[in-house]
Amino acid sequence: MIYLDNQASTPIHPEVLKLTTQVMQDNFANPHSQHTFGQKAMHIVDNARRIISEYLGIQFSELIFTSGATESNNIAIQGIIKKALETKEKVEIITTPIEHSAVMAPIQALIQEYPDRIIHKIVSIDATGIVKVEDIQNLLTPDTVLVSIIHANNEIGTIQPVRDIGRMLKKYNPDSIYPLFHSDGAQAMWSEDINLNYANLDLYSISGHKMYAPKGIGALYIKKNTPIQPICYGGGQEYGIRSGTLNTAGIAGLGEAVRLLTLPEHQEALVRIRDLRNTLLDQLLQIEGITLNGDREMRLPQNINITIAGQSAEKLVIAADLAGLAISAGSACHSGAMQESEVIKAINPDQPIKAKQSIRISLSQFTTADEVQETYNIIKSII
Ligand code: PLP
Repeated sequence: MIYLDNQASTPIHPEVLKLTTQVMQDNFANPHSQHTFGQKAMHIVDNARRIISEYLGIQFSELIFTSGATESNNIAIQGIIKKALETKEKVEIITTPIEHSAVMAPIQALIQEYPDRIIHKIVSIDATGIVKVEDIQNLLTPDTVLVSIIHANNEIGTIQPVRDIGRMLKKYNPDSIYPLFHSDGAQAMWSEDINLNYANLDLYSISGHKMYAPKGIGALYIKKNTPIQPICYGGGQEYGIRSGTLNTAGIAGLGEAVRLLTLPEHQEALVRIRDLRNTLLDQLLQIEGITLNGDREMRLPQNINITIAGQSAEKLVIAADLAGLAISAGSACHSGAMQESEVIKAINPDQPIKAKQSIRISLSQFTTADEVQETYNIIKSII
């Protein structure tokens, strides 16, 4: 069986697995306990926080651990907006139309709670899913509190110009803390080299299981002095923003996954995965009726998203599974049920049918050339 659904979840890297299981066995104590066991566990947490914050170019105390990007996005969006509502009568949020539901759903929930006080503005994107900095700038007003732009899209792999957006936002109203800039980095963190300070980001969401660490662990960068309110209350861990006993083993695994990004082997893996992806994509594009979704260059190296004219994506995914190939259609990471892709609809407003005819193939750093060749054979024979 070939697994090419790595944007839904990656396998755990052997080094990460080794450390995670060892910590789970040996360092079970609560990191906030004062005894030696607790101190040892806290040392592991501190070490992971140091590795990740150094990698991202941020301060140690600007990173909190969460259960994943869904929670990070919720803390960022609800926490920022609820805090702003304490002092502002009207609050505006700007996003693209191709944000993950972990960004869209909390905004919808806030609008239901405060229907007259929150405005959600959706900036237009081009046919490859990329946003223009000027289009965001044109939507800004003194009421804009938060701009949330997905760093790399989970379906079409399109990478947004976050650095340019950050630069523009910081110039917009230098006398005010607002607008704040959040990005969902769940899909981008593994392949994109990003210094969050340099990118002028105020908040950045990370997910472990999209980067060869376990599921159930993630992180959120919150720039120092960002006005934010907790959305969940308890023991006051993580600087009072994310209460709950820390997941020491998951945190150690996330730290190790980030440490691996600093090794030369990671750069080699990026080249290899891009080459394999390009080989497969070029072969697939030779098949009549297949077209690429998203930008060819500004795209995650592991991602392919294609429309196959006249083919049902759902049937194709099932047929592929029966033939030994795991791929996905639509928003596969949302739920068990296959849904039409909102992302494909947003980039093809004149051809909504494409939302039912598009599949995502996502490689991993462990994918082999033989697997890529077999993938092509399976898809061609199904079509
Ligand atoms: N954001 C993006 C872009 C994603 O692809 C995902 C994956 O499902 C999430 C958020 C949710 O992440 P998690 O599964 O860590 O909650």
